Amino acid sequence: MNCNTRNKDAALVVFSGGQDSTTCLLWALKRYREVVAVSFDYGQRHKAELGCAKEIAQRLEVEWHVMDMSLLNQLAPNSLTRSGIEVDENAPEDAPPNSVVDGRNMLFLTFAAVFAKQRGITDLITGVSQSDFSGYPDCRDVFIKSLNATLNLAMDTTFCIETPLMWLDKADTWKLAADLNGLDLVRDMTLTCYNGIKGDGCGNCPSCRLRRQGYREFLERYQ
Ligand code: ZN
Repeated sequence: MNCNTRNKDAALVVFSGGQDSTTCLLWALKRYREVVAVSFDYGQRHKAELGCAKEIAQRLEVEWHVMDMSLLNQLAPNSLTRSGIEVDENAPEDAPPNSVVDGRNMLFLTFAAVFAKQRGITDLITGVSQSDFSGYPDCRDVFIKSLNATLNLAMDTTFCIETPLMWLDKADTWKLAADLNGLDLVRDMTLTCYNGIKGDGCGNCPSCRLRRQGYREFLERYQ
């Protein structure tokens, strides 16, 4: 079923409190009558991420849930989940970062789908991006389509996984936030920094460098 032919009644957003998922939350609020956001607590290095998610959900008056995914930490210890493992800031650009938790998006979307079905919600929104694909295979379009089919079969439901950022680069993601009147909110209230600093972040980690470069390109391209 084509997602575009459906009623835009309710959606569930997989929401981390970062730039991408916050932009998706703004996107969903423009399109759906009811929006629910879900965050996952997987023992991530920075609990601040969940604090940001809560603040943003409150600001936007969105119903927000946190789900316990501490299992993920048990399955795949790495630099995002274990504070004793440092993020490798000098890894080659074409190699998967050591912050990858294998299958993380797959698990999040699957748990989100189970929760959504209980609520009678079939539209799932996620901020994954193929353009921005940095070593995470479960961010790719082909995977999302495959998972959508699998979830439909698993739960005998017609889900629609929407990926508003799939073909956008970081500059265009900033542009989308601006078009949704959310540029300041995304810039000030989200957390993407591996060192847990909100907004513009530490400026040095790989995530901050990508964010800053994207913002600069956004300004060059559109301002
Ligand atoms: Zn940083």
